[in-house]
Amino acid sequence: MRKKVSFIVAANWKMYKSPVETEKFLHEFLPLQKNFSTKIQNTFFIPAICLSTAAQILKSSSISWGAQNIHFENEGAFTGENSPKVLKELGAQVCLIGHSERRSLFHETDELCAKKIKAAQAVGLAPMLCVGESLDERKAGKTNQIITEQLKSSLKLLDAQKKVLIAYEPVWAIGTGQVATSAEAAEAHLILRKALGGLIGAAAAESTPILYGGSVKPEKAQELANQDQIDGFLIGGASLKVESLAQISMVNL
Ligand code: PEP
Repeated sequence: MRKKVSFIVAANWKMYKSPVETEKFLHEFLPLQKNFSTKIQNTFFIPAICLSTAAQILKSSSISWGAQNIHFENEGAFTGENSPKVLKELGAQVCLIGHSERRSLFHETDELCAKKIKAAQAVGLAPMLCVGESLDERKAGKTNQIITEQLKSSLKLLDAQKKVLIAYEPVWAIGTGQVATSAEAAEAHLILRKALGGLIGAAAAESTPILYGGSVKPEKAQELANQDQIDGFLIGGASLKVESLAQISMVNL
């Protein structure tokens, strides 16, 4: 049995919520934290346009927060992009890298993810790398191969001395209501931890958080949280409502 020192409940708000809605949500959510296990580490991936609002509200809280995407350069002629250095200056601790929507809609490759991870670590942000197979890849029995390749290629420029987090997000489970079974998630997490061990050593891999993401809802949370290999959740839809995110954060650990 692995000893879980903490359990990350991370909200990915995608392109939802305005600054006013961000403020309202966080003010309602913060007092509810007293109901959660002290092991719960709440984390928010906020739309870029609302980051300053979140920074003000969360600055003296225990909640980690950051952006859903960054550029790999700190500044330059990159219209519409977000600087890792500025994100760090705002007070962020984390940054999402390679979410499946970034990969499929904005053509992000493992090579690009590798550069972004390097840039995040260079300014002191902890990158959370997302990997996951499509339904066709799963049906073809290629899940383990695909997620291992994504992990290895995206971590090519990793600084093993610095923090990194991994989110296993099967593409077919994101926003579909179809959750991976505990057995499917557990197997993928084991494969990822083994591959990570080959890159950074078994001990470091053991203490690297590997989160599950894909239609996590309050009614499924406990069973998934009970899985030895699952160190947290990355949550889209169910993170948009205070009640459902709070219910998920109330899992027994
Ligand atoms: C996500 O956006 O990373 C995600 C897992 O979304 P959902 O929980 O809605 O499937």
